Amino acid sequence: MDVKVEMIIVYIGGELFQVPEGSTIIMAMEYAGFQLKKGVGCREGYCGACATVYREKGDYKLKGSLACQTVVTDGMTIAMIPFVPAEKPLYDLNDLTPDVGTFTQLFPSVFRCVSCNTCTKACPQDIEVMDYVQALIRGDIAKAADISFDCIRCGLCALRCPAEIVQYNAGILARRLYGKYLAKRSPELDERLKELEEGKYIKEIDELNKMPHDKLSEKYYSREIKIS
Ligand code: SF4
Ligand code: SF4
Repeated sequence: MDVKVEMIIVYIGGELFQVPEGSTIIMAMEYAGFQLKKGVGCREGYCGACATVYREKGDYKLKGSLACQTVVTDGMTIAMIPFVPAEKPLYDLNDLTPDVGTFTQLFPSVFRCVSCNTCTKACPQDIEVMDYVQALIRGDIAKAADISFDCIRCGLCALRCPAEIVQYNAGILARRLYGKYLAKRSPELDERLKELEEGKYIKEIDELNKMPHDKLSEKYYSREIKIS
């Protein structure tokens, strides 16, 4: 039995295309003939490469999302943002301390935050971005590291911030500082790292590397999760 696919209209970079209803933005762009060499990665919502802005028909709001996770709607206008230019200071973690002074020095922009919450609304990961920026301002590195943990560095928060803060680069510094100076040591993790260094898992890692994507996906989603 033939399945009839409805077609809808979208505007990509201002040009009109007909694409199948139900497509994600990435699928729609490829259907329309775009070869995505940049701005596409895992296609599963994890890598943050496919940041996109769009407007839906009749809606005044400019929305941001990941193109692999967003389904097109009729009349949608789309523009991909493959890269957001961002302030990224160089530092050596060994020279830093896990406190507010480090951010005063390396990311003075975070202190310009006007608490507008635009970054939180822009985040496709539903991260409370403003809260982690505020935690940095208070010098609460552990809180900032915790709140920003799921950041995929898509750049959409920085793109919309009126204070031109690069939240995600400040967030990753918080997580690095937390990991190096504040996190409790885990004997289990130390043991596992030692095993890795000794090559105990080379065979398994090699098998995973060679596994077809569908089998790898099946194995991942059916894994046993131990919560202690
Ligand atoms: S915090 Fe910013 S960079 Fe990170 S996922 Fe959210 S919008 Fe993207
Ligand atoms: S968008 Fe910028 S100024 Fe507004 S709350 Fe977020 S970090 Fe602060």
